[in-house]
Amino acid sequence: MKPIQPAQRTRGIRYAVRDILAVADQAKAAGREMLYLNIGDPNLFDFRTPEPILDAIVKALRDNKNGYAPSAGVPAALEAIRADAGAKGIRPIRDAFVGNGGSEVIDIALSSLADRGDDILTPSPGYPLYTAIEARLELRPNPYFLDEDNGWQPDLDDLARRVGPRTRAIVLINPNNPTGSVCERATLLGILEIARRHDLLVISDEIYDRLVLDPATPHVPIASLAEDVAVITLGGLSKNFLGPGLRIGWGVLSGPDEATREYREALHKFLRARLSSNHPIQHAIPTALAHLEHLPSVRERLARRRDITVEMLNAAPGITCVSPKAAFYAFPRLHFTTDDGARVAELIRETGVVVVPGSGFGQRPGTAHFRVVFLPPEETLVKAYRAISGFMAGLATVRT
Ligand code: PLP
Repeated sequence: MKPIQPAQRTRGIRYAVRDILAVADQAKAAGREMLYLNIGDPNLFDFRTPEPILDAIVKALRDNKNGYAPSAGVPAALEAIRADAGAKGIRPIRDAFVGNGGSEVIDIALSSLADRGDDILTPSPGYPLYTAIEARLELRPNPYFLDEDNGWQPDLDDLARRVGPRTRAIVLINPNNPTGSVCERATLLGILEIARRHDLLVISDEIYDRLVLDPATPHVPIASLAEDVAVITLGGLSKNFLGPGLRIGWGVLSGPDEATREYREALHKFLRARLSSNHPIQHAIPTALAHLEHLPSVRERLARRRDITVEMLNAAPGITCVSPKAAFYAFPRLHFTTDDGARVAELIRETGVVVVPGSGFGQRPGTAHFRVVFLPPEETLVKAYRAISGFMAGLATVRT
């Protein structure tokens, strides 16, 4: 039999967060002690899914909620999601639906919207699933830059300049992965203005919205600032509720009725075609949204880990790091190189510290970064950053 030929569209798909593990596995096989700062999974460290969520899931399983659910989600979950969005000031809400993780919500939102050759403005740096789905849908890549010199806020001039005749939407990731930045109100108003001017849907990924680490920085849902713009706001259990393996996310569609009606119907075609998302876990959504007691301690631990990250990385030779305001990622800049892939591979081989090259998330040409996940406990982080600093000091010596 001849080799089965994969589709051309798979060629451009990379997922740097996991691709880097090949290098890490080699270093491990060579006997290095490894420190993994590459995957945004809180449950690998000292974070647990809150007990009330676990109880609700076990109850649903025992109550035999193990058949298919309605395609968009069980009514109690949808009601809780709508109420939560309403409490955040999002209106007018036109729809809510549940998917297998935020990932499936993103997939359905994009697949229901854009045809081959269309484009969607996508933040750079940003979460790589968006570009992977865009590749699958054969969309034209259309990244807009976040401005490192302005706390990684979206560069509104760049965004406006890139709107073309086939642009269909603006993706906003707020708080952002990989930079941990939170959009200021003025930036959000600027994005809404561009969306309004060009009749664009806004897809606002707010999956980290309850993990803002500075009390002085409010998280503002973009959909709460405009009733006249169509917005899908994305949330889920993975991050705020410490359950990425539960695979539950949701979308809330808001905006004018006439602007959202046809798109809403298209979303439901895809939702029906895949039957339903995980049924028993959906029954824990109302419980999750009513039990936010775990958050203060999670944020407190993360804020301490963030402070260590920023302080130690900024003290390392050849590295500068904008302080993240939310989530559990930082995106430090590597100076004196434009090849973060090669430098990160060297770092992993020499120190066993696993981070992800910035090119996996997008960055301005000519700059180099890497992403660290600061979920591990403080001792692990300190050890990792000492190793990174030593590695960079070695490079500086070679350069001089
Ligand atoms: N959106 C962002 C910005 C993410 O960082 C992630 C996961 O890391 C997701 C969506 C995917 O979420 P889920 O695990 O719910 O599919």
